[in-house]
Amino acid sequence: MSTNKNHLETNLIHTSSGLDVEQKTGAVNVPIYLSSTYHQETFDDFGPYDYSRSGNPTRQALEEKIAELEEGVRGLAFSSGMAAISTAFMLLSAGDHVLVSKDVYGGTFRFVTKVLSKLKIEHTFVDMTDLSKVAEAVEENTKVIYIETPSNPCMNITDIKGVVEIAKANNCLTFLDNTFMTSLYQKPINIGVDIVLHSATKFLSGHSDIIAGLAVTKNGELGERLAFLQNSFGSILGAQDSYLLLQGIKTLGARLNSSSKTALDIAGYLNEHPLINMVFYPGLSSHPGHGTHSRQSTGSGAVLSFEIADVVEAKTFVEHIRIPIFAVSLGAVESILSYPANMSHAAMPEHERESRGISNGLFRFSVGLEHVDDLIADLDQALQTAYVREEETVGVRGI
Ligand SMILES: *Cc1c(COP(=O)(O)O)cnc(C)c1O
Repeated sequence: MSTNKNHLETNLIHTSSGLDVEQKTGAVNVPIYLSSTYHQETFDDFGPYDYSRSGNPTRQALEEKIAELEEGVRGLAFSSGMAAISTAFMLLSAGDHVLVSKDVYGGTFRFVTKVLSKLKIEHTFVDMTDLSKVAEAVEENTKVIYIETPSNPCMNITDIKGVVEIAKANNCLTFLDNTFMTSLYQKPINIGVDIVLHSATKFLSGHSDIIAGLAVTKNGELGERLAFLQNSFGSILGAQDSYLLLQGIKTLGARLNSSSKTALDIAGYLNEHPLINMVFYPGLSSHPGHGTHSRQSTGSGAVLSFEIADVVEAKTFVEHIRIPIFAVSLGAVESILSYPANMSHAAMPEHERESRGISNGLFRFSVGLEHVDDLIADLDQALQTAYVREEETVGVRGI
């Protein structure tokens, strides 16, 4: 859709059509249209808007923005990432089957296993780092292959092009959750994906202030079908949150480029640290998905995870971290430290968690905009404090 050759950082601020300002007044920001309904000029003229569930000018500006950024045809804004994801799954019918990335986001896992199954839509979870496993798992009635790359929290990488080829050979659609990379670093539609989904709660809005979701379709026909479902389901994004998200998107380039640079430095620091067992970050050349990721994405993002050594106490480590907030979520100006075992994956039995690499020593770190030296110094002091030293035990015994 976007035909100009500007970099994405430029297109985040301006539209390619050049209509950067509101036409009536020249306002540089899209007005917040707080109107549920619209006066119809004549008896049979229904104008562009009639009711804000079906269309609202502020939401529409956002929907056009994300469609342009993803280089798709139709953008749609939802009240949450899960609303976007679940509405996209509603394109399926009873008797259909979906293939889903094994380490998919927890809310998507819940929707597929607890809601789609009630609607007689079947699923198989598959390790998407292995294309032969994806091909083997396709069934007669498979209609959608659902990708999340990098995946959460171990940053596993799926070869998008490889999965798209398998999908095309089997007449399936591909959906891709692009929350971690955003349109700045990964353009799935250009690789052949049919629907791109976002939790815009994360990097796109970027300030831990709103819950929002976005979907972009590759073609107009899918766009019409998804818009029909959006209007039928009704889980649309309100005008005020649409405005906040438009504002957040303008600074995505500055924020994500800066946070990603810091994340690479932190990943390198942790990788060398004797109290860290493992670091998962696609920007590290030691990461198993590094090669594939570098081919399909232009950045490594601002999320990494790491496993502390057995001699480090997880609880003490968290109690001594000073700068990041300790919370679920990611993608904000403030760094966020999460503990998947007790947070995002708490509902999963321990052996299921361990088999996905989510041990009791695993932390996820979403890097914000704080100074890299301060973040590293903070991690360093917390690790040192939480390190249960052998000598201390000896010392105590000595007394
Ligand atoms: C947070 C998240 C979601 C869900 O989005 P909400 O806005 O919380 O509904 C989906 N996918 C990924 C990868 C996420 O991080």
